[in-house]
Amino acid sequence: MVYNFSAGPAAIPLPVLERARSELLDFQGTGTSVMEISHRGETFLKVAAHAENSLRALLSVPANYKILFMQGGGYGEFSIAPLNLLGKNRKADYVNTGHWSTKAVEEVARYGDIHIASTSEPNGFTSVAAPSTWNVRNDAAYLHICTNETINGVEMPFWQSPPDFGVPLVADMSSHIMSRPMDVSKYGVIYAGAQKNIGPSGLTLVIIRDDLLDQAMPHCPAVFNYGSQAKSEWMLNTPNTWGVYLAGLTFDWLNEQGGLAGIAKVNDAKQALLYKAIDESNGFYSNRVAKPDRSWMNVPFSLRDESLNTAFLEEAKSAGLLFLKGHRAVGGMRASIYNATPLVGVQALVTFMNDFAKRKG
Ligand SMILES: *Cc1c(COP(=O)(O)O)cnc(C)c1O
Repeated sequence: MVYNFSAGPAAIPLPVLERARSELLDFQGTGTSVMEISHRGETFLKVAAHAENSLRALLSVPANYKILFMQGGGYGEFSIAPLNLLGKNRKADYVNTGHWSTKAVEEVARYGDIHIASTSEPNGFTSVAAPSTWNVRNDAAYLHICTNETINGVEMPFWQSPPDFGVPLVADMSSHIMSRPMDVSKYGVIYAGAQKNIGPSGLTLVIIRDDLLDQAMPHCPAVFNYGSQAKSEWMLNTPNTWGVYLAGLTFDWLNEQGGLAGIAKVNDAKQALLYKAIDESNGFYSNRVAKPDRSWMNVPFSLRDESLNTAFLEEAKSAGLLFLKGHRAVGGMRASIYNATPLVGVQALVTFMNDFAKRKG
């Protein structure tokens, strides 16, 4: 038995993998796998509709929003979103809260007049400034935020229901989408790479309000054009059929956990347990993020004595606790505790951490 704390591609719920295995060689009596059938055939269209309808129900996506399963990942969306949304004056505002919003700013700089409405770079990306202090231009085509910074472990505390900024809000939710209920109607566009909380890599989710669909720049590739993909029900070209299938199974599993309200309770218990272990370790472990802005999904922490890092990782691995090494940009450790990580996995991690601190502290 192992527990997987990988930041991404990340753990997929075991029942989802078991079901995929059981259906792999003969999908619903077709005699082939789901990967080997036409995306336009009746069998796959049912899989596609099931994934889309389940997502709409789980996230309470309003009727005036389209759901698109695309490709290109979160990083692709850093360009795809502006190519679709910058409009005629090509102005957009960005909030920089860490590694991924920095990448988003680097990408969009090639396409338009970009203004940084707020940045937490001066404090080392350890908090989020209050939205009332953000300096958003009222003629910006949109305001872009990354609601959960996967590497820095910073989550916007108001992400489930953000304030109105007077311009459409565009959010990268790659690493915490579907971890808790949220109000989709507060956003213009939400995007997420699937490989953290939805399924395998190579699948990208886009949720977009209807009125933002048809303003892509002429040079935007057709497959990345939100309007064209919406018109063709995200089948302008071949989608990641295997990814869509696994996402649908993950949504079934989420429903079995009581939907987003159910999984939110588990996620809350997990994060509370882990941060408590860090905070009550008398400084043996530490997390630098301001408490209200701490991520429920990605928990970076460091050891006071960094010379113990290798021993910590090796012993954790022997105890079946995998992939706890922090991102090279931040160092130290990181436990990613997405939806698929069970509470018992976090309990096992905390037991190990307490024991390690007792022996080495
Ligand atoms: C992982 C991640 C990305 C990059 O996703 P890719 O699918 O590798 O392009 C972007 N944003 C956030 C918040 C992420 O966690």
